Amino acid sequence: MAAIEMKNIVKKYGDGFPAVNDVSIDIADGEFVILVGPSGCGKSTLLRMIVGLEDITSGELIIGGTKVNDLAPRERNLAMVFQNYALYPHLSVYENIAFPLRLAKASDEEVDQKVREASKTLELDEHLERKPGNLSGGQRQRVAMGRAIVRDAQAFLFDEPLSNLDAKLRGQMRTEIARLQKRLGITTVYVTHDQTEAMTLGDRVAVLKRGVLQQLATPRELYEQP
Ligand code: ADP
Ligand code: ADP
Repeated sequence: MAAIEMKNIVKKYGDGFPAVNDVSIDIADGEFVILVGPSGCGKSTLLRMIVGLEDITSGELIIGGTKVNDLAPRERNLAMVFQNYALYPHLSVYENIAFPLRLAKASDEEVDQKVREASKTLELDEHLERKPGNLSGGQRQRVAMGRAIVRDAQAFLFDEPLSNLDAKLRGQMRTEIARLQKRLGITTVYVTHDQTEAMTLGDRVAVLKRGVLQQLATPRELYEQP
């Protein structure tokens, strides 16, 4: 069973040309899929429909076997990893990761166990007392991912997470995201307009153009095309 199934998804804003036009993609459990294409091709709209921040005009979105078209974002159990990481600056790394568990009124014992497990996986266990302002970009990204892991989110969604970084840091973070995603084995949808990211990060690449899915293939298949 696919982790995320998009069936003939359409999005129209007002009565204009569809921003997303009849897109169907099945994403396997643990797969890393990149949505790529030029500005305005509909990739953010598609991602926002998956998370539930935007209504679907027609088509079906199925996550973990359940149709979620009408479910609120929090009922979809997905984790959006934002470009600016959206960490709480006054809270320690520990409490930033613990935050969703605190909201869910988890016991201190459960919080501690899950935060320690996640921070070990993400190699943050030495930094639990620090504040986000004292961390590197890569460490901040990992804290954001930690917050998603403790919630047992069904998938990670990234919207151009590296676009504000300089080239060197972008390269490092790219490597780090790929490594962590493989280690965690969590289904991931990643939006970018950057060809290098698209060709190096994902298991498969979905190329969008004016709202239409042009290609859906592995980087190797795309690379070997004439
Ligand atoms: P991308 O993320 O690939 O840059 P978007 O999904 O943001 O593309 O936009 C796809 C199309 O939908 C564009 O033509 C854009 O102008 C239009 N669009 C996006 N958001 C809105 C909105 N809230 N209202 C009207 N049109 C929108
Ligand atoms: P103590 O001060 O005796 O450690 P606490 O109630 O403050 O007792 O914390 C209990 C456990 O929860 C600690 O042993 C620690 O592992 C964990 N813990 C709680 N809050 C934090 C935090 N901000 N940073 C790191 N660990 C924490």
